[in-house]
Amino acid sequence: MLCPDCKTAAPGGRPCPGCGQTVPERETFAGQGGRYLLVLCGLSLVLAALSLLGREIGFGGMSVQRLFTTRWIWIYVALVSTPLLVGLYFWFALREEEIVVTDQGISRRSRWGDEHLAWANVRGFRHQSLPLRQTRLGRVTWFSRFFPKGGRDPEQILYWPGSTYILEGPPDGDGQPIVMRLEPGTIDDMAWLLALVEERVGPPQED
Ligand SMILES: [Zn+2]
Repeated sequence: MLCPDCKTAAPGGRPCPGCGQTVPERETFAGQGGRYLLVLCGLSLVLAALSLLGREIGFGGMSVQRLFTTRWIWIYVALVSTPLLVGLYFWFALREEEIVVTDQGISRRSRWGDEHLAWANVRGFRHQSLPLRQTRLGRVTWFSRFFPKGGRDPEQILYWPGSTYILEGPPDGDGQPIVMRLEPGTIDDMAWLLALVEERVGPPQED
C-alpha cells in the first residue's frame, strides 16, 4: 500500500516509514453514478431554463413559442428530460460499483460481474487510449470531465476520458486471460487508485 499523506510505500496496517502515520490496510473506491446523475440533472435544468428564457424574450419566434402549445409539449418535455433519464440510468447501473485494493489484490463489485485479481497473479498492466464509444460506459463518459478531480497528484497520471488501464491475470477455465479494465469516469479518485496499482505492479505499458 501507499501512505495517503506522503505516498511512501509501506505494508498496510503498519506505520509509514516516512511520517509514522498508520498506512490503511485497504482502500475503497466508489462508483460515480451519483455524479453522472448530478451533472445530467443539471443539464436538464439548463435546457429547461434556456427554453423558458427563450420563450420570455421571444427568441426563436414561433418555433420556440410552438413548443409550449399543447401539440408540441411532449416533445419539449422529452427533450428537457432526456439528460435526467440518462443520468438516472447510469446512477442505477453504477450504484453497486466498488473497488477494493489491499496488499494482496484488487477486487471489483459491479453489475457487470464481480472480479478479483491477486497481485501475485498479475501478468501485465497496460494503458490504452480508446475512443469513448469503446469504453464500458460509452459516450456518457464524456460528462465525467465535469466531476471534481481526485485530489492526490492527478497531474502525475495520464488520465482523460477514453483512457483505459488493463490488468491481465492468468487464463481462466476457458483459456482466456482474466482482464480487469479500469476506466476513468467509472471510479472515484482514479489517480489514487492507479498510484496504488503501480506500487504493486509497476507502471503500465503503453499500447
Ligand atoms: Zn507517510
